[in-house]
Amino acid sequence: MPELSEEEHAIVEVVADFVDREVRPVARDLEHANTYPEHLIDRMKELGVFGLAVPEPYGEVAVSKRCYVLVTEELARGWMSLAGAFGGHTVVSHLIGVFGTEEQKRRYLPRMATGELRATMALTEPSGGSDLQAITTTARRDGDHYVVDGAKIWITNARRAGLIALLCKTDPEAIPRHRGISILLVEPGPGLTVSRDLPKLGYKGVESCELAFDGHRAPLDALLGGVEGTGFAQMMRGLEVGRIQVAARALGVGRAALEDSLRYAQEREAFGRPIWQHQKIHRGYYFCLAA
Ligand SMILES: Cc1cc2nc3c(=O)[nH]c(=O)nc-3n(C[C@H](O)[C@H](O)[C@H](O)COP(=O)(O)OP(=O)(O)OC[C@H]3O[C@@H](n4cnc5c(N)ncnc54)[C@H](O)[C@@H]3O)c2cc1C
Repeated sequence: MPELSEEEHAIVEVVADFVDREVRPVARDLEHANTYPEHLIDRMKELGVFGLAVPEPYGEVAVSKRCYVLVTEELARGWMSLAGAFGGHTVVSHLIGVFGTEEQKRRYLPRMATGELRATMALTEPSGGSDLQAITTTARRDGDHYVVDGAKIWITNARRAGLIALLCKTDPEAIPRHRGISILLVEPGPGLTVSRDLPKLGYKGVESCELAFDGHRAPLDALLGGVEGTGFAQMMRGLEVGRIQVAARALGVGRAALEDSLRYAQEREAFGRPIWQHQKIHRGYYFCLAA
């Protein structure tokens, strides 16, 4: 992976500083109270985090994947929910940036770059998430609209999203099945209900929801890229970004655990010494063994 540019270094440092000053002091309380972090999300908008995957000229700074990973890691080091709050959004930015029509890019990307418009992706259904070719949500042409019916589950940020990249079948009979799958850029409206927030053990604060589509009408130009049957391949490209983001979250959480435990082992005393000095194998001993 290429090194960070000077500007990217500065972006990562600004986010790290934000995490230390504003996130870490409040993360535990927000997580336990399951409170949506409105103020922190607003600060992330100000810092430009929501625009990191929006290409020019629609956004100001589309950063390298390395920088994107480091920003995600920093946010997750403070509170993983913040990294989750912009993960799906960046996947959708990427999808529109790579596959969207010019009209779709102009319509959505500038507002997504500032975070004024938040986006999420809806793939998973109650019957399963791994086997995406088996989805049953359909979009049927009716005049100048698609009529959408079906259900999605575990959709992150669904209540706050003004845009949903919806994986659905425009041709349920297609063989092979992936040729019948498309992505619609769906906006909230009649026939689309966020029906339930799902309870979670952790990763709280940001909502994970069920969506019900019951005759929701989306205009024909909501079809990502304007060609039916290409949605499965498009989403697989988008998920490459999503998977990198999820892995970077794990790095951030692991780093926070390591740093906190190192600090604790130096501060906490037992039997008159910091507890790290009670280790059976410490560095010097280990080197003796290795020799
Ligand atoms: C907190 C959270 C947030 C989420 N956010 C979103 C979101 O924003 N948008 C969205 O669309 N989805 C979201 N998801 C859903 C997530 O993408 C799915 O949970 C995931 O794709 C797995 O689907 P599933 O839960 O239906 O498991 P299943 O597909 O039912 O799989 C169950 C288990 O079987 C294993 N398995 C399945 N197939 C195979 C195979 N062929 N070989 C070996 N093992 C297999 C799986 O690895 C898994 O361990 C979210 C989930 C969670 C928990």
